[in-house]
Amino acid sequence: MNDSAGLLLTAAQMREIIAHCRSERPNEACGLLAGRGGRVLRVYPARNAERSPQSFLIHPDDQLRAMSEMERDGLEFTAVYHSHPTSDAVPSHRDIQLATYPEALNLIVSLKREPVVCRAYRIVGGHQSEVPLAIEKEAPDVRSK
Ligand SMILES: [Zn+2]
Repeated sequence: MNDSAGLLLTAAQMREIIAHCRSERPNEACGLLAGRGGRVLRVYPARNAERSPQSFLIHPDDQLRAMSEMERDGLEFTAVYHSHPTSDAVPSHRDIQLATYPEALNLIVSLKREPVVCRAYRIVGGHQSEVPLAIEKEAPDVRSK
């Protein structure tokens, strides 16, 4: 896989994101992902300023904090993630219209059914296209319990 074209996360990062999404139900959860060349190195869970089951707005304070840390640590703003508590992992009309960060990919976690479904998209200028999402298995020596 060409890392720059898709999103690469570890299983631990994915678990953290899914746990955050579950904890915010029935509302959508959101956050930022930072890394290099599509590889995620840091997860920043954020507050959904809209507290809505159907939309999200990354809380400006959380965004500012994450962005300044990325800048300080020389990381790229890799992606925005958010959950769809009751719908599929496809961008909503609103997600496409309000994709504010064309440089970042969009990771959507659908909690509609078990197991949860995660898909990644590039959304630019009102158009969305799915990009590869790869989850790395952890080596046994870094697995937590
Ligand atoms: Zn959405």
